[in-house]
Amino acid sequence: MRVNGFPLKLLLISSLVIGLSLILFSFLLIPEIKNNFQKNFGVYEKISLSKGLISTDNEQISYEPFIQSVLSCTFPDPQIEVPDEEELDLIINKQVKLQDNYVPSDLVPLSQYGIPTDGTIMLREKSALALSQMHKEISQKGIRIRINSGYRDFATQQDAYNYWVRAVGKVKGETFAAPVGGSEHHLGTTIDIVSSENNYKLLPTYTSTKLYNYLITNAHLYGFTMSYPKGKESITGYNFEPWHYRYVGTPLATYLYEHNLTLTEYMYQLNNYCLLSY
Ligand SMILES: [Zn+2]
Repeated sequence: MRVNGFPLKLLLISSLVIGLSLILFSFLLIPEIKNNFQKNFGVYEKISLSKGLISTDNEQISYEPFIQSVLSCTFPDPQIEVPDEEELDLIINKQVKLQDNYVPSDLVPLSQYGIPTDGTIMLREKSALALSQMHKEISQKGIRIRINSGYRDFATQQDAYNYWVRAVGKVKGETFAAPVGGSEHHLGTTIDIVSSENNYKLLPTYTSTKLYNYLITNAHLYGFTMSYPKGKESITGYNFEPWHYRYVGTPLATYLYEHNLTLTEYMYQLNNYCLLSY
């Protein structure tokens, strides 16, 4: 069969080739597509950056290595069966959860270290010791602190999760409370730390306190890192929580501080894991 003198088969093949070329060309050159791609796979841009393959500041971006690095990423194991207690850098988030009712073996009450708490609060021993040292320095600066959350078991997390989901719905609720098995508080290395300056509240006024300023510049020296900083919500999946700190040990906390990285970004980059933005 012929259309205007051309064989139909040739016409179809030509159209297909032209169509595919246009799609490929658009994908590489149209800024919106590029931006969407980078938005969804932002973290991989950083992997490429660390390998020196791409520069976002440079107009001469090489797309090929960037796309290759995205395609080569793998997803993390979604459920950790038996966490290795020595792994202070264990990833716990909405993608990766503890499977069983994990209970750390070396939990100690913070009252043992003279740290003010809201009720009985436990942490793993090393974290508690580091916190007690940090508490001494904070006290010397005249700041009165209180720990209002530390180790949390699965049942308590279920209550917190249910509360937020009921209050504001599932999607929004999950930006406030982690699902059961997915909270860093299960690890016994994580605290919510507040001060008398804003009446021990977890509120936006927190960022105008001396405690906030102390923590963002000194917490790493004691091995603590802020898990959910401002501006990284799409990576962590959580709202800015200036009071939520996790103990990872001084060397790693210092590395994260110096490179402006969250533990999530660090671990995902290290393992070349796929992280879709929230
Ligand atoms: Zn917390």
